[in-house]
Amino acid sequence: MNIGGFVSASGGIDQAFHRAYTNEFLVPMFFIGSPQSWNLPVLNDVQIGQIQKAKKETGITQSYAHALYLANLASPEKSITDKAVKALTTTMQNGEKIGLSGVIFHLGSHKGTSTEEGLKRVAQGMRLVLNASPGQTHLIMENSVAQKDKVGGNFQEIGYVLDLLDHDPRATVCLDTCHTFASGYDYKDSDSLSMLLTEVDKYIGFDRLECLHVNDSQGALDSHIDRHANFGEGNITPEGFRALLLHPNIIDKPMIMEIPGVNGEGPSIEDKKILLSILK
Ligand SMILES: [Zn+2]
Repeated sequence: MNIGGFVSASGGIDQAFHRAYTNEFLVPMFFIGSPQSWNLPVLNDVQIGQIQKAKKETGITQSYAHALYLANLASPEKSITDKAVKALTTTMQNGEKIGLSGVIFHLGSHKGTSTEEGLKRVAQGMRLVLNASPGQTHLIMENSVAQKDKVGGNFQEIGYVLDLLDHDPRATVCLDTCHTFASGYDYKDSDSLSMLLTEVDKYIGFDRLECLHVNDSQGALDSHIDRHANFGEGNITPEGFRALLLHPNIIDKPMIMEIPGVNGEGPSIEDKKILLSILK
């Protein structure tokens, strides 16, 4: 299986690759710059060289960046969506320079307008970002917990954005197990799992499902609470994880852990072991 995890990029992105390697993560995900700051760095040639070296040393070929949390492409305020487009473009351009597989982002909130309008703005913003960052790096929509005005809380909504983008091959999707569960998709038995998989297949297509965020959920089913938990400490059953993650259309996807971690310092090799033991 292709299990990875969120890793700190403190000391440089090259260090994120080394941290992943130490923890036996095949796929690292990291922030490029501070997740709380609009002031995003542009990677320079020295940094790019260090990152290429780290990639070679670790043998890691697939990697993802998580976009700034502040970015809200669904907002009705142009100044907000402009900022989000700029931030995502910078991250995508950095990604191109280092051979990043993709940049994962949350679709954001429509702020009291409507889901449809919010999704249209997401598609418009993504178009601008993709045009400004030509290359190979994918721009990846992550499903939300469908809390309040948040868009992208089900695969029909995300599929609508893909339609608006004429299924641009660089626009793909990340399924977060905590978010799907908290937004109301249960997968503890084959009936509920088939509902989730049918929607993914119908609205997204398994070829466009790029990767998963694999997290347990502190919030209950349909609670719309976005709180990630360590495996076995949340409400997703081992049967649920097995049913979803071992499914033939899912099993080979990158699975990136974004959990507090049993040692409290983010996901580590210990969490990977627990996940693998659940999946046995
Ligand atoms: Zn996630």
